[in-house]
Amino acid sequence: MPSTCLWTAPTSCATVASSTSTPTPSWSMRSACGLTIGGRWSSVTRSSATPTPCTPSPIRFGRPDVEAPIDLAITGGTVVRGDGRRALDIGVRDGVIAILAEPGRLPSARTSVDASGLLIVPGIVDSHFHCRAPDHPEREDFDSGTAAAAAGGVTTIFEMPISDPACGTPDVLADRMALARSQARVDVGFFAAPGDLDAPLLQEMAAAGAVAFKVMMHGFPPGREASFKGLAMTEDRDVYRALELVRDTGRLLAVHTEDQGLIDLFEARERAAGHGGPRAHARSRPPLAEAIAVARLGAMNEEVGARVHLVHVSSARAVEYIRWFQARGQAMTAETTPAYLFGSEVDIDTYGPFVKINPPMRTREDQTALWQALRDGAVRTIASDHAPFRAVEKEAGWSDIWEVGSGIPGVEITGRLLWDEALRGNVDLEQVVRWTSEAPASLYGVERRKGYVREGADADLVLLDPTAETVLTPELFHSRSADAIRHVLGRRCRGEIVSVWSRGERVAAGGRVLADPGRGRVVTPDDTSGASSAPLGGTR
Ligand SMILES: [Zn+2]
Repeated sequence: MPSTCLWTAPTSCATVASSTSTPTPSWSMRSACGLTIGGRWSSVTRSSATPTPCTPSPIRFGRPDVEAPIDLAITGGTVVRGDGRRALDIGVRDGVIAILAEPGRLPSARTSVDASGLLIVPGIVDSHFHCRAPDHPEREDFDSGTAAAAAGGVTTIFEMPISDPACGTPDVLADRMALARSQARVDVGFFAAPGDLDAPLLQEMAAAGAVAFKVMMHGFPPGREASFKGLAMTEDRDVYRALELVRDTGRLLAVHTEDQGLIDLFEARERAAGHGGPRAHARSRPPLAEAIAVARLGAMNEEVGARVHLVHVSSARAVEYIRWFQARGQAMTAETTPAYLFGSEVDIDTYGPFVKINPPMRTREDQTALWQALRDGAVRTIASDHAPFRAVEKEAGWSDIWEVGSGIPGVEITGRLLWDEALRGNVDLEQVVRWTSEAPASLYGVERRKGYVREGADADLVLLDPTAETVLTPELFHSRSADAIRHVLGRRCRGEIVSVWSRGERVAAGGRVLADPGRGRVVTPDDTSGASSAPLGGTR
């Protein structure tokens, strides 16, 4: 008889109709040592059509092995995953979740943490992040950016390729990875830019561990050509070629969908009319500019067949087009951000340049459409699009909105806003776990180690106190550009982050960052040989 028996939980994958209770995922199986066991995750009631859990690889439960002590035991908490919640003790060995056990059944541990009364969710996999390293350390670098991440419950970030030099060659990618290894406090994955559209170079960057490639369908902002070289593509012939080349690497192509031609037209009109206020920027980038880019991309990809992931989708109109391509079976997925889910054009009047982002904040109707798209799976991931500029830079935009950079430092507020929404009962916490951890991990092909609370995965965990409250104040934040976070200040969020764990190490607790720079690792896809392991219809 083997010393440890593992049981595999079967998975289900179906869509349920409105206002029904999702069939409870259950598991029951004869183990290798002849015992039949079973279990049940508590059921989740959803208010709208929602895909039921569909995990890409088996969930395994280990039997406690009294002979093998563990490093860390987290006991008494309730583990919340995309497919339900359950009282479980977590045993960690060598930074990995070694055992998920019924309460009280863990072997002895060197260190124990009492999580009674707490919720345990996977650390957020923030798949859209701008560290600003190496060219603007005064705004952020891997040290400060990952400190902010740890404090906010984010245990993995995926760094976008924008910075001078743009990350469009294997050499720059290697430099960027080395910098992260020396500075980062949590784990970091890297996007690459398709650069000069040279097939061997793209293959080399994929083999070196780039999690995905990134393209923007708008031009580079004035004066930032070097930072956007090889990823800002306004011409369809370049986008088409990028789709082909990235398809051949097996990686995902993340795309910023806004049409530069229309932006040029509308911006010229605003400037000609002498408009320089915050709303002028929003009017220069209407939903049409986003939707037409989705249409162009989708039409080209009908022929190419790459896996495309549309980032920071902001409008109902873009969602409509995305649904159309998805209904035709295209491998098109989408991301949105808290800026669009919690902010709207009303904030543009109040906070001006501090909420200048691309695409701009939209209407309440767009907000409602995005929440619905998340619930039914048309949009599958939420990322921060953490894009820091310092307050002194942003202030200049009050007099001339065209002169200020676009972006909000959002990594420290993403989890807090979404967990608050769940603890208020507006969405299920299970759904939030899928949108912020499980789905990005699966889509980007890192789900073997990241994004899931299951045996064999890294012990990346957030312990939340659902009965406490967090008021969003400047003292809470660690980003070097934290003084530019304005639109959520004073907000009272239900829930408090008690502690954050990265590979079994406590990296933040009680609002303090405990991890040292340089402990972070570079995250690469589970399968670096070519095709990603992420299933097209996998976990949402
Ligand atoms: Zn971005």
